[in-house]
Amino acid sequence: MFTIEPLVVAYGPHREKSRFTYMHNAGVAIDIPYVSWLIRKPGFAALIDVGCSAGDYATHIRPVDRQLVHVGQVFADVVDVKPIESHLRERGMKPSDIDVTVLTHLDWDHCMTIEPFSESQIYVQRREWDNTPSHEMFATSFAPAEHYARMEQMNLTKLDGDHRIDEGFDLILTPGHTQGGQSAVVKTSEGTYVIAGMCVLKENFYPSEEQSEHFKVIPPGGHTDLFEAYDQMLRIKELGGDKVLPLHMPEAFDMGRIRTLPERPAPQPPFGAVSPAPGSRRSDEEEDPRLAGRLGPSRLVRLRPGQLRHQRRRRHDHDRDPVLRHGGRRETG
Ligand SMILES: [Zn+2]
Repeated sequence: MFTIEPLVVAYGPHREKSRFTYMHNAGVAIDIPYVSWLIRKPGFAALIDVGCSAGDYATHIRPVDRQLVHVGQVFADVVDVKPIESHLRERGMKPSDIDVTVLTHLDWDHCMTIEPFSESQIYVQRREWDNTPSHEMFATSFAPAEHYARMEQMNLTKLDGDHRIDEGFDLILTPGHTQGGQSAVVKTSEGTYVIAGMCVLKENFYPSEEQSEHFKVIPPGGHTDLFEAYDQMLRIKELGGDKVLPLHMPEAFDMGRIRTLPERPAPQPPFGAVSPAPGSRRSDEEEDPRLAGRLGPSRLVRLRPGQLRHQRRRRHDHDRDPVLRHGGRRETG
């Protein structure tokens, strides 16, 4: 049994939502997290994706003299939340404690911070590797060529399809968003979760009743094969049920650990005791310094749902968003 923790390293403000939900939500802006998912069991630790940072984005992705324009829209700069090393330090870990690093795909926002994990066993699908960069339409989706060249000198294994990392931790080839995307199927004490290797949101997997009349799932707005993406999403949903974790789901901002890591043998509950419901807040999460870290190192403040997003908006709306800068109104999804 493993535990899963989303480590939010940065976020992208005001992203056009239809870039994630194909043919849905055009003109709606959404803040999306860039996440590295920590998978642990006693004596073993892995990361699914390593995320990116504002510095890497500014240095390697954004044009030097202006903001990036992507599909006709100004792409607001990446904002740091917390470096991955800090997330690990809070858990008493360092990068060398990571045994395995899985890259779901090779878009820059998922693989930029690979350097600290160069000694871990890195897994990427060969089909993804051989087709990166995939097409000129997605030129801004990829890291510079030197980044991949450096990665090739690391402890990198190219996989040909599904791969078992350990009992209860499998990788499955799920192309469609990119040519060789992969997803992780992880068994926890709260059930089997699938970390879906595509740039999507929860809404993609769980559309509203109205949306799902023709779309059982909503494919990613950016895709290399629309039908393949749709079919792979159905497969992921069949495996994960209501436990699919999409890479950019805003819920990751406020989500705790999926199942508390047993640090010492838990006392046996009295007969008939009820364990906390899945998703209910546990005391260790209430004290989680990650919540304090977002507001400043010395303040431990309980956040109400939505409060964090509010602060982020306030900080960035007016200086970064051309619509708001000119007095326009924009809905945030
Ligand atoms: Zn992404």
